[in-house]
Amino acid sequence: MVTLITNNRLGRGNGAPPTVWRSSFMSITVPSTTPATTSLLSPGRQALDSALFQLDQAADRLGLDDGLRTMLATPRRSLTVAVPVRREDGRMDVVQGFRVQHNITRGPAKGGIRFHPSTDIHEVTALAMWMTWKCALVGIPYGGAKGGVSVDPASLTTRELERVTRRYVNEILPIIGPERDIPAPDVGTDEQTMAWIMDTYSVNTGYPVPGVVTGKPTTLGGSLGRAGATSRGVQLAALKALPGSPEGRTVAVQGFGKVGALAARYLADAGCRVVAVSDVTGAVVNRSGLDVDDLRAWVAETGGVYGYRRADALSHAELLELDVDVLVPAALEGVITEENAPRIRARLIVEGANGPTTPEADRILADAGTTVVPDILANAGGVIVSYLEWVQNLQACSWNANEVEVRLRDLMESSFDAVAATSAERGVTLRQAAHIIGVGRVAEAHRMRGLYP
Ligand code: NAD
Repeated sequence: MVTLITNNRLGRGNGAPPTVWRSSFMSITVPSTTPATTSLLSPGRQALDSALFQLDQAADRLGLDDGLRTMLATPRRSLTVAVPVRREDGRMDVVQGFRVQHNITRGPAKGGIRFHPSTDIHEVTALAMWMTWKCALVGIPYGGAKGGVSVDPASLTTRELERVTRRYVNEILPIIGPERDIPAPDVGTDEQTMAWIMDTYSVNTGYPVPGVVTGKPTTLGGSLGRAGATSRGVQLAALKALPGSPEGRTVAVQGFGKVGALAARYLADAGCRVVAVSDVTGAVVNRSGLDVDDLRAWVAETGGVYGYRRADALSHAELLELDVDVLVPAALEGVITEENAPRIRARLIVEGANGPTTPEADRILADAGTTVVPDILANAGGVIVSYLEWVQNLQACSWNANEVEVRLRDLMESSFDAVAATSAERGVTLRQAAHIIGVGRVAEAHRMRGLYP
């Protein structure tokens, strides 16, 4: 469905020019149907087109009025900042940083911070929007946000990285805080980054504020279970979606970072055979099964999976197209496209990454009978335990690992069941069902709060 805004009145057309969502903050162009060939667009722009397309589909199914659609398509706050950084040789570089609060109707904004060279405002907006639906879907009282700095952390020394982090946080300081917006780790950031953010915020506030970030080291109020939470959620989602026993099921994992490496480990723990993994350095395969812990040790020592001796090398493209039971994309957006989707042979795709599958690929996979557990459900374990960490920080208490695990499992499994039930009732894919629930809950919250003034 196409929605056109002309002089604040919305009309609909077919095959018409792309939709323009306008607000005082920004205007966003929505593709007219499933996005046409988008290869000329930046990866961030493609991610935003996908997110807006998914919203449009859910809004159609929910029968949302045009004003509400526009509200949900428009980020509440978008901040772009310059981050000057003093390099070790005395030079000054300037990189761009972003923080987008897509929606704060159900609670404070929540979402990770990404350090990656191709991060831009469009990508961060898309990721913030997905966070809004994710938090609503799993029923935690947050809106959605995301942040990013367009920098390659591997190109910086630790001291430069610390300076970039602290300066970026200083620039976004007015809009974050435990009651406003709570960052967390994402691609290229980790618990050390969160510790620097907590320190910078606390120094500026004058007292320690552990609840300003989640995914912190446990010594600073981080929660037990947070480091592996996203991967544990991916494992739980995969086990729910797999028909029958996981024993011996073959798995390929794209991305061997915080999410992918532990997802591989937990799926192996559940009895699956992890046969292939990739990261930015390369891809490796061993049909008899990889020793995930041995591979993690190799990566810790060498910096990547490339050259791992107990496996054969593989191309990045080949990994995605392996004949396996389960494929876990756990790297970046837009990796399963209309170009490679017809060659994907996995029976089940569990999206550890945000936005790995384009809408065109989604349609091809659905037609082929491939089950896709969508990102906003499959990787929600991270934000669930982030929420538990924040609750512990606000109450100045700490729960044991079992308490965290029980709450994580309950929320993941009940959310999965709700999505599966909606999918069956309405005859839609799991992704469409997840968006119907997530978008529907946010729309309902807007209706109940009303419009001020
Ligand atoms: P990370 O930086 O720890 O790991 C990213 C991994 O992807 C690295 O191993 C990197 O080498 C690899 N990679 C990058 N480009 C690649 C390519 N072209 N081919 C193969 N591998 C490639 O990041 P992460 O925190 O594990 O996040 C991964 C994904 O999971 C992202 O989409 C992120 O938004 C999503 N996610 C993360 C969390 C979390 O708690 N960290 C929560 C929810 C969703």
